[in-house]
Amino acid sequence: MKPDLKAVFLDRDGVLNKLVFNPVTRAYESPHYPKDLILCGNIIPSLKKLIKAGYKLFIVSNQPSYAKGKTTLKAIKQIARKFNGDLKKKGVQLSRAYYCYHHPDGIVPGYGGRCACRKPEPFFLLKAKKKYRLDLKESWMIGDRDSDTECGQRAGCKTILIKNPHSSDYQGKIKPDYKAKNLADAAKVVMAKT
Ligand SMILES: [Mg+2]
Ligand SMILES: [Zn+2]
Repeated sequence: MKPDLKAVFLDRDGVLNKLVFNPVTRAYESPHYPKDLILCGNIIPSLKKLIKAGYKLFIVSNQPSYAKGKTTLKAIKQIARKFNGDLKKKGVQLSRAYYCYHHPDGIVPGYGGRCACRKPEPFFLLKAKKKYRLDLKESWMIGDRDSDTECGQRAGCKTILIKNPHSSDYQGKIKPDYKAKNLADAAKVVMAKT
């Protein structure tokens, strides 16, 4: 029987692409339009290193801005496509990107209320485990919020919190296995513990 594969689950916003200042809420948020999608510096070599070490890469991202009435679903999906394309152009192939478009306080019909897939629910990690035959104990979740850490923990993965200063309001209540300054640092931790 083929041995189980291992994965790195990556939060997207604030880890792989920059958070964007929203003057309306005065907060750093996910990009709402394709022109706002800017990759974080130096992520490509780190992603390639992880793939070379035998990890499948997955994006697991909450995208509640459509549910909250901040942008269109079309724009959110365009951003996701552009993101995949930008990575592919640079030679990084993701196994799959999972997005939750819901939010408990969503005002758009069909997108509000509780859902099964929003982090910290481990829904997408468990789904990927089944589909790709992953060993979650040998897998990692990397994100910049406590909800990412909790999601990884609930799936039985090892966790790394990226200390993005713009995400500090969402950090500090849940203890990750490791902390890192950025993805390059996090990849070093993964490689050292592999
Ligand atoms: Mg994030
Ligand atoms: Zn959802």
